[in-house]
Amino acid sequence: MVKATAIISLEKQSASSLLRRILKRLGLTDDTEPLCRRHGDGLFIIQADPAVAVEAVDEIRIWPGVRRLALFQNGQRFAQPPDPTRRETVSVGAEVVFGGPEFVLIGGPCAVESRAQVMEIAVAVKEAGAKMLRGGAFKPRTSPYDFGGLGRLGLEYLAAARERTGLPIVTEVLHREDLDLVAETADMLQIGARNMYNDALLFAAGSHPAGRPILLKRAFGATIPEFLEAAEHILLGRFHAGIDEPRLVLCERGIRMFNDLLRFTFDAAAIPHLKARTALPIIADPSHAAGDRRYVEPLALTAAATGADGLLVEVSQAPEQALCDSAQCLSADDFHRLGIKATAIAKMARA
Ligand code: PEP
Ligand code: MN
Repeated sequence: MVKATAIISLEKQSASSLLRRILKRLGLTDDTEPLCRRHGDGLFIIQADPAVAVEAVDEIRIWPGVRRLALFQNGQRFAQPPDPTRRETVSVGAEVVFGGPEFVLIGGPCAVESRAQVMEIAVAVKEAGAKMLRGGAFKPRTSPYDFGGLGRLGLEYLAAARERTGLPIVTEVLHREDLDLVAETADMLQIGARNMYNDALLFAAGSHPAGRPILLKRAFGATIPEFLEAAEHILLGRFHAGIDEPRLVLCERGIRMFNDLLRFTFDAAAIPHLKARTALPIIADPSHAAGDRRYVEPLALTAAATGADGLLVEVSQAPEQALCDSAQCLSADDFHRLGIKATAIAKMARA
């Protein structure tokens, strides 16, 4: 029998007897059964007979100690609403809206290297049309011997750059322990490709009380269904935190295929494919996909043509000297040109 999925968020201090009562009402016997899964503190996913669940949830919903309850049937998901033509928008700060009429350009260095560096790039990307500033304070690096970011200091420099330019900041959170720190400064939390499968981080970021919007990048080995399930961990966190908006933007950044001449292979078809399956805004990162500045613009234009809602691009005032991802880094002038063309193409693609 195909089960229905009851998603039940309980008050943090609720007694274990409440869970037992819920399970009993749903026709289950105790919480150690494989049909009941716990996430974080007080969120339970219970697989039940739909014939029992549909009636039971309306009763359970109003029991004291039950905060929120959703019932999914037929494989329904938060990220995959029954009406695929519905579109969500995600706001960052007072002015940026993903998934709306505006094509959103995000520019900035791979890593924050110094106060002067991030200030200079922030001013330059703003002049070049960026609506948000990117920059890593905590960097995932393949080699443990490479520069790993300035950490807390990097966040301070990003905040100073925001102060100067007014651009909201997106920066990566690598570890669950850093969530409070990063969420204090960031306007949007980036969860990178390497962490797309880190479900504890995804849930913790989604349920973080600051409610910061999240940019989730596709892992370079992930299928589209896996990417959407990763989004689901975040949206489950939102549900548990009582946040009704998804505040989640997905990012296609290239996958690993047979072309070993480029860093990754940009999966352009993933954009319309994702749009057909989820209401969430989708942006693209042509920089990491290309790994080579010569190919960043063509991939950016492809993303605009295939329906992306915006672009995340690595930009530096001295691309050759960047400590991280130098080969794919654009100058502010190149970013400016790319932005004008991509915005025009996005407009045509939406017409
Ligand atoms: C980045 O955007 O700096 C980054 C590390 O990207 P990804 O997680 O896509 O590799
Ligand atoms: Mn990078």
